[in-house]
Amino acid sequence: MMGQATTQACACGRVDGKGRPLSYAQCCERFVAHFDTTPAPDAEHLMRSRYSAFVHENAAYLQATWHASQRPATLDFDAGTRWLGLSVKDFKVTGEDRAEVEFVARYRIAGRAVRLHERSRFVREEGRWFYVDGDQL
Ligand SMILES: [Zn+2]
Repeated sequence: MMGQATTQACACGRVDGKGRPLSYAQCCERFVAHFDTTPAPDAEHLMRSRYSAFVHENAAYLQATWHASQRPATLDFDAGTRWLGLSVKDFKVTGEDRAEVEFVARYRIAGRAVRLHERSRFVREEGRWFYVDGDQL
C-alpha cells in the first residue's frame, strides 16, 4: 500500500482551503506510517487517520491507536469491503484530554451499501490520542 497510494487523494476525504483533495502523503500517511514519532494532533486527525488505516488494512496502526481498555486482540478485515468515503459531521472537545467526533463512513460489502453513523469518544494519554468507543446513531 505504500508508494503509489501516497500520491492519491487521501481516503479520509480531507480537502485544502481551496476545496482540493489532499494526497495521502499530505494527509493521513504521516500519522499512519509514523505513529511512534508523529501522533495525530487531535481527535479529528486521529479519526480520519484510522479511517484511512481501515481502507489500507493497516491493523498495526488501528491497534496502536485503540485505547488499551477497548483494544481488540486481533483485527480482521472483510475481504469484500469497499470503502466509499468518510464525512466528519462534528468534532467536539469535551474535556482537557477528551474529545468526540461524529462521522458517517460509507462502504459496500457483498453488494450492500452500508452507512455507519457513529459518535466516537477519544482520550489523550501522555500526549497521544486514542479511540475509546462510540455510539452508533
Ligand atoms: Zn486523510
